[in-house]
Amino acid sequence: MIGLGDHHDLHDGNALLAALAGVDQRVGAAVDAIARGRVAVVTGLRHDEFQGGLVAAAQAIDAPTVNFLLRHGRGPLYVALDAPRLDALDLELVRPRTAGPGRPAVRVPVDVADGTTSGISAADRAATIRALVDEERGAADFRVPGHVHPIAARASGVLERAGHTEAAADLVRLAGGPPAAVVSLILNDDGATASAGEVRTFALEHGLAVLDIADVVAYRRAHEDVIVRGGETLLPIVAGTFRAFGYRDPFEPGEQFALVHAEARDGVAPLIRIHLECMLGDVFRSGGCDCAAALDASIDAVTRAGHGAILYLRSPDGDAGRLRHLTGEPRVADLRQQLAIDGVALSILRDLGLAGVARPAPVEAGQR
Ligand SMILES: [Zn+2]
Repeated sequence: MIGLGDHHDLHDGNALLAALAGVDQRVGAAVDAIARGRVAVVTGLRHDEFQGGLVAAAQAIDAPTVNFLLRHGRGPLYVALDAPRLDALDLELVRPRTAGPGRPAVRVPVDVADGTTSGISAADRAATIRALVDEERGAADFRVPGHVHPIAARASGVLERAGHTEAAADLVRLAGGPPAAVVSLILNDDGATASAGEVRTFALEHGLAVLDIADVVAYRRAHEDVIVRGGETLLPIVAGTFRAFGYRDPFEPGEQFALVHAEARDGVAPLIRIHLECMLGDVFRSGGCDCAAALDASIDAVTRAGHGAILYLRSPDGDAGRLRHLTGEPRVADLRQQLAIDGVALSILRDLGLAGVARPAPVEAGQR
């Protein structure tokens, strides 16, 4: 498994922090490759199906790189650009007939007219891709329809939409270029969508950096200021005195809280526990779930560790998620929800200055 997917225990914030070392390594390798004009592999869910994508910077792409993307990608060649640039080029949205907030915003396909023939060769497509990024080029420079598919990346990248398009644009931006990236989705020789294992084998064979969309989300959450601290107060509770911080996240609903027990002790790393809000369990002590016991255990563990925090987070699925787990279904329904939870947690830990500290405090056996 690539990305933060190994981090399965919802309550264990230290495991989430420990996963950051791998995130930094994978994102660093991909950004380095892209900065040198090479291809990287981005994996993740697309239409709820696992998919590997080949990604390269658009600005200076050459014909051999486009040829590599066409040989192994074998689908449309997408160019992720920001919406203002696509609007400036007067490229209309291909109107989707299937609704859904996660649908990619694909524009009409184009060829650059100047210096190309059919537009279909690798050299012609490379010229089209470079022209799409070139601010000197305008709408009149392109033929429609053509062979390169422009697609709008959301302005806030993977934080707004955890898709291949946004991950590609974010990686190119992190590599120091304008957020314009070429994306082609990988198929096996038999025409089937490559599985996670097949994508890894492919990346190894070709010496390509490989990372998951979740890595880009975690990297940005851990290294950029995303969440907004609303206020703080001293919070005396039975277990001890905590400092409570309230947050608003621009991309996730509801107010988030961190309860920090900050009696820092030399040589003891903070213990980080994560708790998903469950009003019926936490407040009314419902017997339908073990949330109340888990919260009590977390408060107890952090208090005894002497230094740590409890992140009290809202369910990314809202009321549906809160109620569903009382009927025995898992609290976190899928990887997208887990990614949202991990993302908010990382942003809070960054704000608290705890994101760089992964080593868990010693916790006695039998702790949850
Ligand atoms: Zn519960």
